[in-house]
Amino acid sequence: MNAGRMMLDSAQSMLRLATADMSLTPNMAGRLIDPDTIHSFEIPVLMDSGATQVFRAYRVQHDNTLGPYKGGIRFHKSVNQDEVQALATLMSIKCSAVGLPLGGGKGGIVVDPKILSEDELERLSRGFVRELFEHIGEDVDVPAPDVNTSAKIMNWMVDEYVKLKAVAKSTTPAALDQATLSRWRGSFTGKPIDMGGSLGRTEATGRGGVIALASYLRAMGKDMKGLRIVIQGFGNVGYYFALLASELGAHIIAVSDSKGGIMNRDETPLDIPLVMECKKKQGTLAGCYCAGGVCDLNAGKIISNEEILTLEADVLVPCALESVIYEGNMDKIQSKIIVEMANGPVTEEAFEYLNKKGITIIPDVLANSGGVIVSYLEWKQNLSNEKWSEERVNGELKKHMEAAFAIIWERSRARQVSLKEAAFEVAIKQIVSKMK
Ligand code: NAD
Repeated sequence: MNAGRMMLDSAQSMLRLATADMSLTPNMAGRLIDPDTIHSFEIPVLMDSGATQVFRAYRVQHDNTLGPYKGGIRFHKSVNQDEVQALATLMSIKCSAVGLPLGGGKGGIVVDPKILSEDELERLSRGFVRELFEHIGEDVDVPAPDVNTSAKIMNWMVDEYVKLKAVAKSTTPAALDQATLSRWRGSFTGKPIDMGGSLGRTEATGRGGVIALASYLRAMGKDMKGLRIVIQGFGNVGYYFALLASELGAHIIAVSDSKGGIMNRDETPLDIPLVMECKKKQGTLAGCYCAGGVCDLNAGKIISNEEILTLEADVLVPCALESVIYEGNMDKIQSKIIVEMANGPVTEEAFEYLNKKGITIIPDVLANSGGVIVSYLEWKQNLSNEKWSEERVNGELKKHMEAAFAIIWERSRARQVSLKEAAFEVAIKQIVSKMK
């Protein structure tokens, strides 16, 4: 079975489990399982060679009971309809679980963006918007970046959207007043700041994860000081998680990227800003054994991505790919808490096994929702033609995360279920209460 199908089965079986005691009508249950619309289409792109190449693309609009569909667009050669549908389903749950007035959607293009030129990438991004124009927009469906899509790509997409909308309204982008332009730019989030993006968006997912972990620790009467944390994936999410957790006193023992991981031999905490500086300089983490303001080539060791998951630590934070904790390694996990920052890093079997073993899993729909929360704040700023300070954005993010955690925690205690089941239950109850 492919990974996309596995993700979809797992999302749907969690939906079924969470609704088992809810006495939903068959109509409601069906609406939660089946997406509202699946757009599967081709994008013809003029390549630099002069030939036209056609790319398969998807946008799955899962449920808009609470508000416009919301979710990223990924560019990857392994994108498939099942995966996009699974991720769209999880977006409906995520938005609802953290109290956003948004529904769930997801998009993807089957492409290896690394082999396209910049011009080809731009034509592909604009093509996606041309094909989907009728079905997206600030009041309908608001895409965002995801794997291999950046603020630059959102910029091309929103520019294309504004052009098409201006034509549809018999005007031009140049003739628009600022409030209308700002509103129309609300059709995409994760944009560059000068195109209506929000301050704080870059750090938001990592920041939200740290707030979720801190909230859990507080509920258990503990704090972040001296907590030994291991992080798989030192990209945007992993880096900011590591940085902000270490600022709160946590010890980041090991980090890794696609080429492998590092740790200091004596397990002293890594100096995260220095490790990032070193990685940027060298292009790899190997040798970036930095602690307490200095990097020492002889102080550390390289570890594999498989090894990093099974290190003895308090907290394991997978920030890279889905399904990395699975049947093959679940019995070797030694951390007591797992914070799911990637989407679906723990498979269904591994979840059941670890849950029974008493390992706490802070689920992805809560832990990595900081990104969509600040996307929501960006959208709100666009709709009202405002620009908020970073301080205000971070404050609103904290408020949202802490409130969501409190509700999910409460339900998990009251029903004696895992945080994941509780998050699904909270989310589904909210959606079905608004279904007409
Ligand atoms: P990114 O591309 O910036 O970073 C990914 C990191 O993972 C890179 O350092 C890469 O080298 C590393 N990596 C890739 N394969 C690996 C492997 N096999 N083992 C270890 N590391 C590996 O991506 P990101 O934005 O940080 O997103 C990371 C994850 O978080 C993804 O699953 C994404 O879907 C999820 N997520 C991201 C956001 C967001 O706002 N960026 C929001 C929600 C969820």
